Amino acid sequence: MMIIAFVIFISGLFILWQSLVLLKKEGLTEGHIIYTDTHLWNKVTAPLYDYDLKLTGKPDYIIQSGKQFIPIEVKTGKPNSIPTEAHILQLAAYCYLIQHNFHQRPKYGIIHYIQPSISPKTNKSVSFKVNYTNDLENRLLSTINQIRSIEKSKEPCRSHQSPYRCNHCGYHHICNQKLIDQ
Ligand code: SF4
Repeated sequence: MMIIAFVIFISGLFILWQSLVLLKKEGLTEGHIIYTDTHLWNKVTAPLYDYDLKLTGKPDYIIQSGKQFIPIEVKTGKPNSIPTEAHILQLAAYCYLIQHNFHQRPKYGIIHYIQPSISPKTNKSVSFKVNYTNDLENRLLSTINQIRSIEKSKEPCRSHQSPYRCNHCGYHHICNQKLIDQ
């Protein structure tokens, strides 16, 4: 009996280790799954703006929880989607904007992945709570600085090899680095 329990314990550890490796590989740096009540979500209609950073953006929804305002960003994804660094930084930007517009620093934000189906009742979805830590804020500010310095440079170089991205890019008709023939 002891041996069986030990084998189960070791198998559990192995599965946990494999999951962590997979999450790291897929880019999850923060975030864990939570349940959210969509009835509490308030649609955001006007963009938020921060004069100092010249940053603007509009989360899909905001939840008011006590004195806190929590941003929610909804993305299309599969039920097993996990937050990418790009989605985490986008959410961090909304946390920053809420802090500077409402003078309340959100403790966290939510990324909600949804896989639409024929009926909204059968949509599959998963929500991740992402803590808005000082480290995440610093990563956001450093990314914004990098973007600003690229903007100042004469002609930024393409940063990817994806024709798919170029095909869906709003600037492909004027871009001389596009990877598609249009
Ligand atoms: S079309 Fe140009 S700007 Fe758009 S994604 Fe491709 S390389 Fe980047």
